[in-house]
Amino acid sequence: MFSDKEEFKEVFLTRLEMTSGKSFPDSTKRDQYQTLGHMVREYVSMNWINTNERSRMIKQKQVYYLSIEFLLGRLLRNNLLNLGIHKVVEEGLQDLGIELGDLEESEPDAGLGNGGLGRLAACFLDSLASLDLPGHGCGIRYKHGLFEQKIVDGYQVELPEQWLRHGNVWEIRKADSAVEIPFWGRVECSEEEGRLVFRHLPGETVTAVPYDMPVAGYQTETVNTLRLWSAEPSPFPQHKNIMQYKRETELISEFLYPDDTHDEGKILRLKQQYFLVSASIRSIIESFKKQHGNMKDFNQFISIHINDTHPVLAIPELMRILVDEEKMAWEEAWDITVSTISYTNHTTLSEALEKWPIRLFQPLLPRIFMIAEEINKRFCLKLEEKYPGDWERIRSMAIISDGEVKMAHLALAGSHSVNGVAALHTEILKHREMKQFYELYPEKFNNKTNGITHRRWLLNSNPRLAGLISEAIGPGWIKEPQRLGEMAKFAEDSSMLLELELIKEENKQRLARRVKQQTGLSIDTSSIFDIQVKRLHAYKRQLLNVLHIMHMYNRIKEGDSHIQPRTFIFGAKASPGYYYAKKIIKLINTVAEKVNNDPAANKLIKVVFLENYRVSLAEEIFPAADISEQISTASKEASGTGNMKFMMNGALTVGTLDGANVEILERVGEENIFIFGLAAEEVLRYQQNGEYRSMDYYHLDKRISTIINQLTNGFFPYAGDEFESIADSLLMHNDQYFVLRDFDSYAAIQKQAANAYGDRLGWQRKSLMNIAASGHFSSDRTIREYAEEIWHIQPAASHSK
Ligand SMILES: *Cc1c(COP(=O)(O)O)cnc(C)c1O
Repeated sequence: MFSDKEEFKEVFLTRLEMTSGKSFPDSTKRDQYQTLGHMVREYVSMNWINTNERSRMIKQKQVYYLSIEFLLGRLLRNNLLNLGIHKVVEEGLQDLGIELGDLEESEPDAGLGNGGLGRLAACFLDSLASLDLPGHGCGIRYKHGLFEQKIVDGYQVELPEQWLRHGNVWEIRKADSAVEIPFWGRVECSEEEGRLVFRHLPGETVTAVPYDMPVAGYQTETVNTLRLWSAEPSPFPQHKNIMQYKRETELISEFLYPDDTHDEGKILRLKQQYFLVSASIRSIIESFKKQHGNMKDFNQFISIHINDTHPVLAIPELMRILVDEEKMAWEEAWDITVSTISYTNHTTLSEALEKWPIRLFQPLLPRIFMIAEEINKRFCLKLEEKYPGDWERIRSMAIISDGEVKMAHLALAGSHSVNGVAALHTEILKHREMKQFYELYPEKFNNKTNGITHRRWLLNSNPRLAGLISEAIGPGWIKEPQRLGEMAKFAEDSSMLLELELIKEENKQRLARRVKQQTGLSIDTSSIFDIQVKRLHAYKRQLLNVLHIMHMYNRIKEGDSHIQPRTFIFGAKASPGYYYAKKIIKLINTVAEKVNNDPAANKLIKVVFLENYRVSLAEEIFPAADISEQISTASKEASGTGNMKFMMNGALTVGTLDGANVEILERVGEENIFIFGLAAEEVLRYQQNGEYRSMDYYHLDKRISTIINQLTNGFFPYAGDEFESIADSLLMHNDQYFVLRDFDSYAAIQKQAANAYGDRLGWQRKSLMNIAASGHFSSDRTIREYAEEIWHIQPAASHSK
């Protein structure tokens, strides 16, 4: 469609006029972005068709990654770079007086996820395609992604997000491939040829319409598919009230649930889950049958991965199709199902474990519920055989008990592989959280430490650093990220270290401009940029960071001037119903107000809250960071991936021994990271023996009592009793997340980090060693492990361009 700059310009101008109905001088940035986007999507079409044809021809095993979230962010730059047409397009546009960067700003973030779990799914898609692996995503096309956050008077305000307002240039609606999803109604049982046959007579059906997006790998011919389902009214509604039916139907794909961990007991959420699973499995089976025919071979050619328990109904749904529609015997269907499905666990927080009350589940999904009951019955029989008389164990492992369906137990029983997302997390699953299941199925458990795509998070978002690396070691690291390790040989090369410093400075200036534009604050790029960006959650302990800032402020007010200038930057969305998290946002903004407006302090420290943290903003933040705050209560953060993005961009971690921080430490060595605080075992021991008394720390540490008193004693003039609940959580409720327990060691490590920053070359050397060790945390490594050890899929025999 275009092979050089001149051709590109010609096609672009013609297309622009045709699609916008305006002359070039009258066209807006958005018109130009949309024209370019459509051109790029058409550019991938040829390889997309070829990839699909090839997989049909050579009968290669395919993996489908089912996820309730895909936090994609923007796609233009990623697609241009992966397709290798970035330069042609950038220069062609320049000839026309257009900055590619300006057009990128017109692209809305596809924010179909909350945080780490959704972003992981997006990174995996990039790695699958870039490694030529036949792997596709299945998700929901939410009309509104994660809410947009505004800060008003220091409080979070949520606005509906509108990414589809101007259409989505990357998608193709496939109305012909729509499927009908049944809900409600009853199950009819009859006998046919000596066999009991069950039929679900639905109360209503909903049409699931797929929208396909191409996923192009980095400089390969592989183009995989992300299929997102949209809910529409069925052409044959049986509902008595048509308007109500239409409304309820559209709600299924209207909003992403903005809740990170808690599960709201809403029927709508369960509807979303079954909608995703049923539509995806039907379309997987349809394409499988076209190619292979015999469902007995299903597991040889198809792997289905479920990202956390949200898509776990894939297990009973696949059973339903095999038994009810394909007329397979239960045992055979079960073997196929278990060997097809694999499951990733993302958290050990008990409030995040999904459990559905039978009274909601059974009426909505009557046949699926019957199958879940049958699975449970057989599972419990097996337990009885293995643990005769151990009723307590059987009750606690059952899939259905106490009036609830336990989604994690269904996932453990109905899949052949269960993985945690970092070594520590997997050990905690095996030996604590899922101990009984580990005893029953030791062979199912394995670890797959998370990763991030180094193409988005380094190559695309930090082009100067990427350029320096390519100059130093060649561009091979882009395909083989472990080669970033070769950067270590420049550890004593002061010109390299100065280059690194210069690039960091430029990235800090870019972020400083963004801060100025968004908040009006001027920040000093020679200060340490100390950054904590992630969802707001008690266990992530943004509170520890804020309390420490209050302590630094107090030190300054007491006349301590031995303070390395620092800018503390926060970005975090709180779930709208999460009262405590919202209070912490208000506290951060209140501290910011106090510190930034005090001339005695604001030369040394400043506090910035950047609103609406999301992927595109993150891409500007990571390259500009000196310090990465990864300070969760040990044992609570399953892996973290923000920690990896920071490291890859040369920030040094201040962190606890939690999640993947443990593996980051192993890779960079203790001289290149700042570790503090309780270890996971110590936290777990405290939780068992109940010997922690937060009040002791209040009484014994003057710094702590001063800060906590300041929360409520008028130190913040307009706060009133605003922060009483925070003070209460620390003292009255015994500080569940051990903030006070870790305060002293946090303050000490922060001093150590500040001293280290004073040694400029020394700091850059540490930064270099972080970059060099970061290749291991590329999602290419993670995906290779999934492909080899869980999915057993091979790269397509495609030749790189
Ligand atoms: C990487 C990322 C996350 C996950 O961050 P953690 O620090 O691992 O919790 C969340 N949101 C966005 C936008 C991200 O890019």
